[in-house]
Amino acid sequence: MRLEGRRILITGGASGIGLETARMFLAEGARVALLDLEGAQAAAAGLGPGAIGITADVVDEAAVRRATAEAAEALGGLDGVVNSAGISLWRPLEETSFEDWRRIHAVDLDGPFLVSRAAIPLLRAAGGGTIVNLASGAGLRPLPNLGAYCSAKAGLVMLTRSLALELAGEQIRVNAVAPGPIHTPMLERTLSRAADRHAKMQEFIARVGMRRLGSPEEIARAILFLSCADSSFTTGAILEADGGRVQV
Ligand code: NAD
Repeated sequence: MRLEGRRILITGGASGIGLETARMFLAEGARVALLDLEGAQAAAAGLGPGAIGITADVVDEAAVRRATAEAAEALGGLDGVVNSAGISLWRPLEETSFEDWRRIHAVDLDGPFLVSRAAIPLLRAAGGGTIVNLASGAGLRPLPNLGAYCSAKAGLVMLTRSLALELAGEQIRVNAVAPGPIHTPMLERTLSRAADRHAKMQEFIARVGMRRLGSPEEIARAILFLSCADSSFTTGAILEADGGRVQV
């Protein structure tokens, strides 16, 4: 039970990596609040006792403040955050509208900023805590046709490292996981929109040294490591969980 008694807010908790993380965290003794645009209550009900669902948009400043306070009230405080809510967009930059560019940066970068900022006083009140951001291999190395996402995730990498220094003295650790391609609804949506699903899948796999997609569980285990005492002297780290990124 590596998270016994911990109270953790998970954004994007209704799907994919966030949902799998919630399941694993509950099994490790935590109580969790799932924050999502949709499906949070149903996902929490599916996980059983110890999970609550909160509907909120991570780009809405007032809603984030309300949701964070609601999570802390329901859980009796807060000592961890996982920022998993995110969206992607595969599109040549020339064809990316300003609206799309802003939306990607809003959800993938402003969201973790707003949620982390709202959570800091609660983590401080708990005497310390953890923030884990879902960055991406795309935020560390460039990929074509993914410019807005690469840019937002690169911003999230530096936000993680900067905030880690700011909060280290208060025993609040801030780290990120940078996954490679993971088989989740997000990746399924990308595959289903591709002109040739098989070719797109091969394109993803060709970048992975281990020659396969990762599973949400493999990423949840990395998030667990950064959220529990196993990583007690680690802050500002970007943990690449990508099966070995091969440059192609
Ligand atoms: P997913 O689509 O399965 O889940 C994302 C969740 O975030 C959804 O439930 C969605 O409703 C929620 N969400 C989206 N916008 C939101 C908003 N404005 N407010 C609140 N909730 C919102 O995706 P996933 O694959 O589980 O991705 C989780 C995180 O991991 C994302 O940040 C993603 O960028 C990152 N990531 C994923 C992969 C991958 O291959 N799947 C790779 C690298 C990084």
